[in-house]
Amino acid sequence: MNTTVKSILNGWKNSIEKYNKLDSWKLREQLSTIGKYLRSNDDTKAIVKMVHLVRDCAICPNPNMVQIHSQINKILNMDEVSKMSACLFTKKINGRVKLQGQGERFKGETWRLFDERLRFKDNMLLRNFDIETENPKDSRKVRRIVEKRMCQAYHRRNRRADYDGSQRRNEHYWMNRATSFQLYNIGQMENVGSVSRGYSTHWKREYDELTGQVVFKKKMVYSSEEDAMRAVKEWKINHLEDKRDITAYKCAICKKWHIGHKSDIKECMNEASCVES
Ligand SMILES: [Zn+2]
Repeated sequence: MNTTVKSILNGWKNSIEKYNKLDSWKLREQLSTIGKYLRSNDDTKAIVKMVHLVRDCAICPNPNMVQIHSQINKILNMDEVSKMSACLFTKKINGRVKLQGQGERFKGETWRLFDERLRFKDNMLLRNFDIETENPKDSRKVRRIVEKRMCQAYHRRNRRADYDGSQRRNEHYWMNRATSFQLYNIGQMENVGSVSRGYSTHWKREYDELTGQVVFKKKMVYSSEEDAMRAVKEWKINHLEDKRDITAYKCAICKKWHIGHKSDIKECMNEASCVES
């Protein structure tokens, strides 16, 4: 939940408990902050609705302090609950359900994973391991490590939650999402400097927040041409402003399918300084 709004509500709560009224100092400013928050629609529907109610009560000529106090308590409780299942927040963008910023949500876990080293691979950094290109035996090992870490992360987050059977499915779902997100995350090449990413374009150049360097991150993998073509269609719909031609191609490195701009692929084909895996 929005921290400014939360601290305003906490302030009101304290003020009601101590003086049975809202502190008029700053009230106008606080109301405008809450108004902005309500317009931004940046929280779950239920919470926004409750904040709306509190705001409406607060601007009454004779606000009912008992009512406001109990509503604020409800909101703060809801916020606690939503924090526990924060990993399951979804948002609809252009009619499609989108999980809210996995990168942001799993930041802590990603940092931890990225710092791990693989003993069976000569202490190679876990973040450089690409499960698409390594041999199946090692890939399975790394998958198990990632699964285990994400499972631990889940239980760290939900330690205090007393859950029943109904949450089992969520748990399973969360773990799968988190694991595949992290498996997608890892497999980057570092110290690439001015190296071309090579004609295979298994990678894309990207800035890595962890090291502050430009690295090659592997591209999204599609198992079949049909899947890749579907992704091309979707990409076009979501990037109407981009006039460059985009296409699906089979990758020489992982033998699976990626999508990319035609111009980039052609350019890479012509380059002499291609990266060999
Ligand atoms: Zn590839």
